Amino acid sequence: MTKQMTDVVNIDIPSIDIQSVDIQGIDIPSFDTLGLAPELLKALTESGYTTPTPIQAQAIPVALAGGDLMAGAQTGTGKTAAFALPLLQKLLPLASNSASPAKHPVRALILTPTRELAIQVEESVKVYAKHTPLRSLVVYGGVDIKTQTPHLKSGIEVLVATPGRLLDHIEQKTLQLNQVQILVLDEADRMLDMGFMPDLKRILALLPKQRQNLMFSATFSNEIKKLADDFLTKPQLIEVARSNATNDNVTQKVYQVEQSDKEALLTQILKVADAKQVIVFTKTKLTASRLSRSLERAGIAADAIHGDKTQQERIKALDAFKAGTVTALIATDVAARGLDITDLPMVINYEIPSAAEDYVHRIGRTGRAGASGIAISFVSSDEEKYFTEIEKLIKRQIPKEIVVIEKHSTRTTSASRTKTSESKPRSSTSHHDASSGIHGETKRMLPKKKPSDPWFDKPYEATIAQEASNIKSSQANKKPVAVLLGGLRSK
Ligand code: AMP
Repeated sequence: MTKQMTDVVNIDIPSIDIQSVDIQGIDIPSFDTLGLAPELLKALTESGYTTPTPIQAQAIPVALAGGDLMAGAQTGTGKTAAFALPLLQKLLPLASNSASPAKHPVRALILTPTRELAIQVEESVKVYAKHTPLRSLVVYGGVDIKTQTPHLKSGIEVLVATPGRLLDHIEQKTLQLNQVQILVLDEADRMLDMGFMPDLKRILALLPKQRQNLMFSATFSNEIKKLADDFLTKPQLIEVARSNATNDNVTQKVYQVEQSDKEALLTQILKVADAKQVIVFTKTKLTASRLSRSLERAGIAADAIHGDKTQQERIKALDAFKAGTVTALIATDVAARGLDITDLPMVINYEIPSAAEDYVHRIGRTGRAGASGIAISFVSSDEEKYFTEIEKLIKRQIPKEIVVIEKHSTRTTSASRTKTSESKPRSSTSHHDASSGIHGETKRMLPKKKPSDPWFDKPYEATIAQEASNIKSSQANKKPVAVLLGGLRSK
């Protein structure tokens, strides 16, 4: 493997805003003209795909030609098919109907940072490969390794894996990688963020030197350029616009609201907007669990998905969400990474991420494939600095709307009185915020007192003990509230 990457290093790659290299103006061919095999075209037609997405239109010909690829595209752009289709096409001549495991060595390895993404990628590979004899499998940690071994032993050509579990299999000698011809690094930036670099180096050292490498990353930081420099050979650079940061299909809204009022606001939005499927992002696992329980108590079907949940629990929550039996899926950033839920209409940032790029990933869950979506951010005074960073990142200012959560007592605090007077409803008639379904005159009583939750009495991790105690004290201070959502005003 050479260490050249002239195609990439000579290009001034902005690490964040890559709209400047949008593919507008490029003719998007049809799948037929990309030279894909009839077996693959049939699967695409059955999946309802008519036109390649921009990343597919650009990446498929490059990958079919056999070159290395460094592609800037995030989840939601159709990137999975952009690498899976050419990969399958290249393996087709070697596909065998034989039952012998020896005829089905691992020929393509797809590495992903998270279990959820690995599962989704393999599901897509299966769909695209359904009219071919090519076999695929996903392996990830958090489940008994023994359950995966028999499948591996029966032989599979396309292996999707998270790095740690792949190394476990290699150590247990349940897997051979000496026939890998194609390597895909999916969401490479997140793999680095999650500290997988040492694992990646170990895995890559085990692969044949002669192979094709396809790397996908949502961002092009210096670390990613270094990774590409180390592992790719003269890659062709392909970028598509970070559609979700600037995608006009996604209405971005910011509500300024105090931390202690966020829960009431969230409940109101979920109820008033009659939301069907919403991902709510929190910064911590504890907040995710707590919020999910509170929403349930408020009569909203909710579940949490985060790193402390078992794989089975996460899959169950995701399936229920996809099936529509859970309305609000409360997720931390890592857990939600790579989630692909078709037509997700709304994302709520209950807490603002301190890493601005996480905002882009979060709102990328909605507004996909041309559908419209809403991304609402609850910004408390402590979080304004993070939101300023986000606005710099997305090169866009989002009007701030002040939300007044009025304490429903005869007296208001001076602070809330000030806010109320600053932000009277715009008219006495009903003001309807079409995008969120919030009515200006909405004034709903929330439960006077939260029922106590024994879950909070259980000891939790020491690092978040402080947060737990904050929650307890905020619960103690909680007064009956009514949400005056008419008190919205642009700053
Ligand atoms: P991905 O970015 O790979 O996670 O894909 C996002 C979503 O777009 C998935 O639900 C895919 O099934 C869907 N998709 C991918 N390619 C196409 C296409 N060409 N036409 C329509 N939908 C697509």
